Amino acid sequence: MKQGGRRPLRQCVACRKRREKDRLLRIVRSVKGRIFFDPDQNREGRGAYLCPDAGCLETTRKRGLLAVSLKTSIPDGIFLELAGALKNRPHEAMGRMLGFCIKARKAVLGTQAVLEGLKRQKIGIVFISDQAAPGTRSRLNRACARASVPLAALQAAMIERSNVRVVGVLQGDFAVKLKEWI
Ligand SMILES: [Zn+2]
Repeated sequence: MKQGGRRPLRQCVACRKRREKDRLLRIVRSVKGRIFFDPDQNREGRGAYLCPDAGCLETTRKRGLLAVSLKTSIPDGIFLELAGALKNRPHEAMGRMLGFCIKARKAVLGTQAVLEGLKRQKIGIVFISDQAAPGTRSRLNRACARASVPLAALQAAMIERSNVRVVGVLQGDFAVKLKEWI
């Protein structure tokens, strides 16, 4: 297999473009002939790769390209799983970006800091965990509405610090990008 730079390249079965392996979805046929989606790309067997793109997924399904590549029939459930993986991707990316905002001090943590930031019009978007108390949620709801700032769901997987219930991203590029994703 050809190497591109330091990261190995693989070809999408649908569009035939070569991309870095870890940017593609991997589907595996195990030695025993089982077919499964391999999100961590570490399972043994023959692999086929696909862009994390709804168009490539649809082409693959319609034309039976996975079956061709893996030389076996493909259970329908695989396509559901792959479609789910597409849906989750923006979420993962959003989580990474939110984590980065926090590290780069482009976000404030905790209800008081966020309410204060909203009052001073410093916040571009607020994330709240479903673990937050109902009172906290309604206070933030009102404050966000007053400041015309969107309030989005904070998933546990989005940030490493699970004790954080409320994150306010400061106005700027990060907030703009995150708003596009919610
Ligand atoms: Zn593709």
